[in-house]
Amino acid sequence: MSHEPILIVGGGLGGLTAALALARGGRPTRVLEGAAEFGAIGYGVQFGPNVFHVFDRLGLTEQVMAVADSPPAVLMLDALTGQELVRIPTRASFRARFKHPYIIVHRIDLHNVLLDACRRNDAIELVAEAMVSGFEERGDGIAVTTADGRTFSGGALVAADGVRSLFRAKLIGDGEPQPIGYVALRTIVPMQELKADVPRDCVVLWSGPGLHIVHYPLRHGSEFNVVNVFRTAAHAERLDAASARAELEHAYRDTHPSMRALIGMMDLRWRRSIGDRAPVRHWHRGRIVLLGDAAHAPLQSLAQGAGMAIEDGLCLAEAIHAADGDYQAAFRRFEAARLLRTARVQLESRSLWDFYHLDEGIARDVRNASVVDWDEAHMFDCLSWLYDGAPVPPALGP
Ligand SMILES: Cc1cc2nc3c(=O)[nH]c(=O)nc-3n(C[C@H](O)[C@H](O)[C@H](O)COP(=O)(O)OP(=O)(O)OC[C@H]3O[C@@H](n4cnc5c(N)ncnc54)[C@H](O)[C@@H]3O)c2cc1C
Repeated sequence: MSHEPILIVGGGLGGLTAALALARGGRPTRVLEGAAEFGAIGYGVQFGPNVFHVFDRLGLTEQVMAVADSPPAVLMLDALTGQELVRIPTRASFRARFKHPYIIVHRIDLHNVLLDACRRNDAIELVAEAMVSGFEERGDGIAVTTADGRTFSGGALVAADGVRSLFRAKLIGDGEPQPIGYVALRTIVPMQELKADVPRDCVVLWSGPGLHIVHYPLRHGSEFNVVNVFRTAAHAERLDAASARAELEHAYRDTHPSMRALIGMMDLRWRRSIGDRAPVRHWHRGRIVLLGDAAHAPLQSLAQGAGMAIEDGLCLAEAIHAADGDYQAAFRRFEAARLLRTARVQLESRSLWDFYHLDEGIARDVRNASVVDWDEAHMFDCLSWLYDGAPVPPALGP
């Protein structure tokens, strides 16, 4: 067993969770983040109750809840008519069923909770501005080089470097994430600047033909987060502001007036082509293991990509603790524990994507007519595989 620290490439939510969970068992880590600062950018992010199994284990639930909000409900509205199609209550009955809350939080605030915990822990070394550009496996460890020529070595390497992972390219080589012909725009505005007539306290998904908008409040109602997503032939292009505005107006021309008021607020500078990964069976080779989006990036329709990265972080660490430094055994155990759950999130996110974006026609009419019959008990049952959380190898106990 190597006594060197474990290298974690990528200081996103997945990488930091892994560092904290490894430190819990006394294993030192060195987290290498390519950006100039850890967690400097971000928008809103939603989490189901499943992530609280991890936050509880890491002793972070109270700190997370101090920066998060729990909405009264998650709604699905028809983007053309404004009709309410689905309402999932997320307060008392939800808490009673799933034991933990549904939350919305600014990604930076959550990141800071994890970062503060990392900074308080001597076993975790955080290195910013360390864009890893190459690596070399050695007999009893691994060395990486950064774009500015520094070298770091470790006993093993956790690649938490996101959807365009360098390590995935080397280990699996399945190219870029698959674009699906949609783009996303994101914006946060102060709540007092919100003029659109929309529910302000819930998580709302407006579902339309080839488009959707998700919005919810952040920071205890002081800010309003909007993500809008639409199908466009120009999904792979970088557009100037005028063309991007024209494209947006065209895409939403037939939608409900509240939606058109929302798109008037969008910041056109953050425009991203949407893509995901197909599930694969193996995420490790030698002393390197992939985690989070690097291993199994989903579409965002279930809002679970970051949740899965956080679950991975704890599960991987517990597998390493249990294997007492036998990384091969630990990585196999981690894969076995995580594969089907994360693949299901990837596959169900794709199905849900199609379900949200049905074109006008009989299939859409059938969907709208059937979902209004879903009652709370039915919806909670459908979500239980996800929100009940995942078994974690209990190497260190609860
Ligand atoms: C519009 C949108 C909305 C979403 N909403 C939700 C939601 O509500 N809930 C949810 O659970 N998920 C959501 N997701 C998904 C979520 O953002 C991702 O699944 C999650 O961020 C993955 O975490 P990660 O730690 O694996 O990777 P990332 O968050 O991508 O972190 C990777 C880190 O690695 C660093 N890095 C990359 N390459 C290198 C390198 N070579 N060297 C060093 N550092 C490197 C990056 O700078 C970054 O900090 C959403 C995604 C999108 C696009």
